Amino acid sequence: MMPLYFRFPVSVFLFFLCAGVLFSLSSQRCHAQVGLAEQGAVMGIQNNLAGNTPVPAAPPQVQPMPPMPMMPIMPGGMMGQPQPAAPKPKTKKDLLKDKSDELFGNGGWWGPGGYFSPIKLPLYVLLFLIWVGCASWINADQERQQKENREVFNLVYLLLYGVLCTAIFFIPIFWAAFSLTVLICFVPALTYVVIRNQSLPPGDQVLTREHLWFLFAVAMGKFGIKIQHGQRLTYTAGPPVELEPVAKGVDPQTLQARLILARNDPGYNLLRDNIFDAVQSRATALRFDFSPEETKIWHQVDGVWLELLPVPRKLGRSKEKDIYEEMQEAVKKLVGGNPEDRRSKQGGKFKALIGNPKKKSKLKKFDAEYMSQGTPTGEAAILQLHAQTVPFKTLDEIGVRTEMQPKILAQINQHEDESIYGHKGFVIISSPPTHGLRSTVSVLSRSCDRFTRDVANIEDVNGASEPIENVIRGMYDTGKGETPVKPLADLLFRGIAVLFVRDMSAPETVKTCCEALLHDDRLFLTMARAKDGVEALRRFLAVDFPSQQIVPYINSVICQRLIRVLCSECKEAYEPDPKTLQQLRLNPNQVQQLFRKRTPLPPHEEAKRGICHKCHGVGYFGRTALFELLTVSDATKALLLSNATPEVIRQQFNKEGQQTFLHEGIRLLLKGETALDELSRVLKM
Ligand SMILES: [Zn+2]
Repeated sequence: MMPLYFRFPVSVFLFFLCAGVLFSLSSQRCHAQVGLAEQGAVMGIQNNLAGNTPVPAAPPQVQPMPPMPMMPIMPGGMMGQPQPAAPKPKTKKDLLKDKSDELFGNGGWWGPGGYFSPIKLPLYVLLFLIWVGCASWINADQERQQKENREVFNLVYLLLYGVLCTAIFFIPIFWAAFSLTVLICFVPALTYVVIRNQSLPPGDQVLTREHLWFLFAVAMGKFGIKIQHGQRLTYTAGPPVELEPVAKGVDPQTLQARLILARNDPGYNLLRDNIFDAVQSRATALRFDFSPEETKIWHQVDGVWLELLPVPRKLGRSKEKDIYEEMQEAVKKLVGGNPEDRRSKQGGKFKALIGNPKKKSKLKKFDAEYMSQGTPTGEAAILQLHAQTVPFKTLDEIGVRTEMQPKILAQINQHEDESIYGHKGFVIISSPPTHGLRSTVSVLSRSCDRFTRDVANIEDVNGASEPIENVIRGMYDTGKGETPVKPLADLLFRGIAVLFVRDMSAPETVKTCCEALLHDDRLFLTMARAKDGVEALRRFLAVDFPSQQIVPYINSVICQRLIRVLCSECKEAYEPDPKTLQQLRLNPNQVQQLFRKRTPLPPHEEAKRGICHKCHGVGYFGRTALFELLTVSDATKALLLSNATPEVIRQQFNKEGQQTFLHEGIRLLLKGETALDELSRVLKM
C-alpha cells in the first residue's frame, strides 16, 4: 500500500495544479471581458503581495481589449511571459485558435503566449517530488521510532508546506519564488533530522559524516569498488528481520515500550544480524559465552553445536562493552529483563519475522526463546528459534522408510482386521527434546485417514500448530489455567474417532480418555519427550492415575530420533574394517564400502581444494529421522504392571524382535546416508 504521505501530497499537488489552471482560465475570461481595469487591480494585488508599490488602477473600459502583456498568475511566472502576437497570414492553427478564442474568450483556454514553461514547471514538479520523498521518509522514520505524536507532526509539516506554497503563488519573480520553495522543501526536513539525531545513538543518526561516507561506500560497492566503512547499526538498514516481544499476561503498551527500548539500543541491529545469519545457516539455536577475553558463539545446526570463530574483546566499540554484550542488553530489553543484571537467570520470548513484510506468504516466522545466566567467567546465553510452520507434510519427508510407512499407518488408521490395533487405545509418539516431535505429530495427523474418519487435534492455544484440512481443532489456554479436558469431552461427545491429545500429563485428561475407552472405540494419540520407547512408556504411566486402568489400552509407541545426513557433495567412500562390521553384526563379505565425511587434508592442500559450498565444511547437511516402532504385547503389558525395570522391558522388546533404532540406523549406514560416527552419537543418547 502506498504510504499515506505519498498519497496525500499527490492529491494536494493535483489540487494546486487544477486550481492554478482554473484560476488562469477564469482570469483570462475575466480579462477578456472586463479589460484592463481588472488586470491593473490584479497586478496591484500581486505587487502588494510581492512588496512592490501598487500600480494605480486604470479607468474602467467598456469595450473588450486585445490581449495585453500581464502579470502571470502562477508563482513567479512559472508559466512564462506571454508573447506579443505578430500579424501573420492565418494558418489552420490560427483558425483553431480563433475558434478557441470564440469559445473561451480572448487567449483561449491556453491563454495568450506559452502558458506552461517547459523548464520552470518541471523544476517545480521536481522540487515537489523531493518534498514528497522527504515527507514519506519522515513519516516512516517516526513510525520506526514509534513516535506518539507523529500524526500531529505530519499535519503541521503538510500545512506548513501548503500555506507557504500558496503564498509563493503570488510572488511575481520566478527565481525568488523558486528559491523560497527550495527553502520550504528542505528547511523543515533538515530541522527534523537535527532533532531526531539528538535523541539517537551515533549508529542511527543520518546525514552525519559517517552516514554520508557509509552511503557513498554502499553506492561504490554496487560498482564493485570496496570502501572501508563503519558498521551501520541503524535499524533502518540491515537484514529484513522484525522482532516482536511476546509475554503472557502483559498488556500491549508494555510490550510496545519494550520494543522501543530495545530498538533504541545500539545492540539491536547486531541481534537482527545474528538471527538472520542463524536462519540462513539453518541453525535452530544460538549460544553465547562471555568471558573477559572474548565472546564464543555457537550455532546449533541439525541438532549439533558448531562453534564459530570467537570474537575478541577489542572488536567492541567501547572498552567497557563488547558489541555482543550490547546485543545481550538489547535482547534483555526486548524480553523485559534487566540489562544491568548479568548474574541472575533471565529469559523471555519474542517473535522473529524474517523476509519482506509485504510478501506475507514468503515471510518466515519464528518463536524465539531467550535465556541467560551468570557463569564463573562471565555470562552464558541461549537463543532458540522455533519455526512456526512445520516444513514437512508427508512421511517420506520426515524420513520414514517406504517399508515402514504401512506399519506406522496401521497404528493410526482403521485396519480391515479389527483384531489388530488401529481403532482403539493409546498410541504414544515420542522423541528426545529438539528431535522434531512437533513435525512428526503434525505429519502423522496429516497422514491418518482424515477423510473417512473424524480426526481432532487438541492443543494449547500457545504454540499451537497450523490448522490441517479435515482435522477439527479443540483448543485450550494453559495461560488461563485450562486443561485439555473440556475440549476433549466436547469432541468425545461429538463422536470423534481419532484424537490427538498432545498433552496427557493431567490425571483428569487420562481419566476422561480411559472412561471413553470403556464404552467406545476411540484412538488417542499423545506426545512424550523421551529418549526411547521404554522411557516414553514410563513417562506416560507416571501420571497420577492407576496404571491398571491405562496399560490394557496401550497399543504402541512410535519413537524417533534425528540423525544427520552426510553432505551429498563431499562425502567420501571407504572400505570398513571387518571388525567394525562384525560388531554391527554385518557380513564383511557383503559390505564393500561405507561413507564418511571428507577427511581433512594438510592445510595448504585443503586451501587448494576449497571448502564445500553446500555444507561449508561441516560434512553433514540436514537430518532424517530414525524410527523405533514398539507394539506393546500382553507380555510387555504384564511387565509394565509389575513395575519391571526399563532394562527388563527393553529385553522383552528385543526378544519379540521389534524394530529398534539400531536396525534402522544400519540401513541408513549401508545406504551411505549417514556415517558410523554419527550413528553411534545418536544411539548413545
Ligand atoms: Zn559438503
